[in-house]
Amino acid sequence: MKIKDGAAHLRTLDRDREVYLDGALIARVADHPAFAAACRSAAALYDFQAAEANIELMTFETETGRRVNRGWQMPQSYADLVARREALTAWAELHGGFLGRSPDHLSSSVAGQMMGIEVFERHGARYASALRDYYAYARDNDLYLCYVIVNPQGDRSKAWGEQPSEEMTMRVVDEDAAGVTVRGAKMLGTGSIMAEEVLVANLQPLKPGEERFAISFALPLDTRGIKVLSRKSYEASATSPWDNPLSHRFDENDSVIYFDDVKVPWERIFLLGDTDMCRAQFHDTPGHVFQNYQSQIRLVVKLKFLLALGRRIAETVGTARMAPVVELLGEMASEVAAVEGLLYGMESAGGMVGGYYVPNASMMYAAQVQTQALYPRLIDQVRSLAGGGLIMLPSSAADLENPAIAPLIERTQVSAREGEGAAERMTLMKLAWDAVGSEFAGRHTQYEMFYAGAKFVTTAHCFRRYDWTGSERILDGVLASNPARPGAGGGGGSGGA
Ligand SMILES: Cc1cc2nc3c(=O)[nH]c(=O)nc-3n(C[C@H](O)[C@H](O)[C@H](O)COP(=O)(O)OP(=O)(O)OC[C@H]3O[C@@H](n4cnc5c(N)ncnc54)[C@H](O)[C@@H]3O)c2cc1C
Repeated sequence: MKIKDGAAHLRTLDRDREVYLDGALIARVADHPAFAAACRSAAALYDFQAAEANIELMTFETETGRRVNRGWQMPQSYADLVARREALTAWAELHGGFLGRSPDHLSSSVAGQMMGIEVFERHGARYASALRDYYAYARDNDLYLCYVIVNPQGDRSKAWGEQPSEEMTMRVVDEDAAGVTVRGAKMLGTGSIMAEEVLVANLQPLKPGEERFAISFALPLDTRGIKVLSRKSYEASATSPWDNPLSHRFDENDSVIYFDDVKVPWERIFLLGDTDMCRAQFHDTPGHVFQNYQSQIRLVVKLKFLLALGRRIAETVGTARMAPVVELLGEMASEVAAVEGLLYGMESAGGMVGGYYVPNASMMYAAQVQTQALYPRLIDQVRSLAGGGLIMLPSSAADLENPAIAPLIERTQVSAREGEGAAERMTLMKLAWDAVGSEFAGRHTQYEMFYAGAKFVTTAHCFRRYDWTGSERILDGVLASNPARPGAGGGGGSGGA
């Protein structure tokens, strides 16, 4: 079978679905001006993996003899993990890290859950069998999945079942021999306009008594009753690829997904009615580690992009050799290098879990907490390097077509970089604004601060997974080696050195 390419991906979007934007129903997303360029960017990822020169880098052969993206690969050694990371990095470099939920995010999650299939076996043979079949189907067809694993925010002081609207949080409302029916909403389906299927689960803790919310399944996005309620499209308001180079191409979209009495067949249900199993699906399997490890691979690419952007801006405005600017760029470089170091650290400090090589969870969560704070800081640093240069720009490419002002623009957009002029300066600054200041950029800051949960959630993961025994052993060793401690037989604690 052929390796999935861009045309094959676009064909999967060629089916009617219920996407709502600006009051209208949009059935064919790939043709709509709010989504078309993002869909083409997704297709470009598949074209890249299918190109002869990239096949070995980007794909691996499954046991059914197909070659699919390495995101589906379940690494059995450190070398496998590194080969897998190199593929994921190559994809992220195509979009500068701006597609948060590129297809390798969900393939990482599902492959990670599959690595802990025994957790599903304990929940029930039928559920384990459903996940096993789904993993093989999704992998062999190289599916692009998105997920909604969080409930709409609602009133955070109330439990999911106590929200003012019964319909807010998706729950099971019926069950029969064919499957179950679900009703209500989940958020926030990033990438849902470009994906083929959606995985539904509960990452937020559920309490005993909340069993009706406890379900995980996957369905095609054109399933009857799935309504995708899109946020504003930044692509739709992007004036041109030159004026808005990132939002024009990489607006992956985020949507509330409403399940309007959606029927889920048993063969697509991975867990049901067990609140603790919702936690175990991600945390007792390598699922959560693998999906967030993918995020860190992508984020390292994005941080490197922002760092280079900051330096290029300083060169363009002629400040790159000034001591305070060198100091700031050095500080930014140290922060980005530290995150890259954490990425390599989580890989080399990883280990075998069952038959699979899994990155070190403690280091992965540490990277998550650090980058939640680092991202907005780095954005701020790039903005501070740029000053008004991000704003003193022509209103759009159309200004350059007007002979009355084109020469004035040419004269006033000056670059300090050798051999560069107005065109290079404006192209850079337009890109910079879309990365750090536009509405698209603001969404990205929100994304990097929240995609893995609020800070109280990510720090709790760090607390839970840190090797406290190892550090307490050192503390206890130093305490025990103090000869002057009371009861140590060293004469009591009164003495000074
Ligand atoms: C751009 C973007 C894309 C996303 N994409 C996806 C996706 O593809 N799939 C998906 O499933 N989800 C996605 N999410 C959702 C994401 O997982 C959630 O935003 C995240 O888990 C935080 O939940 P919340 O938004 O309800 O915020 P909250 O949990 O309500 O947090 C908001 C703030 O409220 C405070 N707070 C709330 N509860 C507590 C508490 N119990 N204790 C202390 N403080 C509290 C904290 O100050 C916190 O910072 C996305 C989010 C964003 C912003």
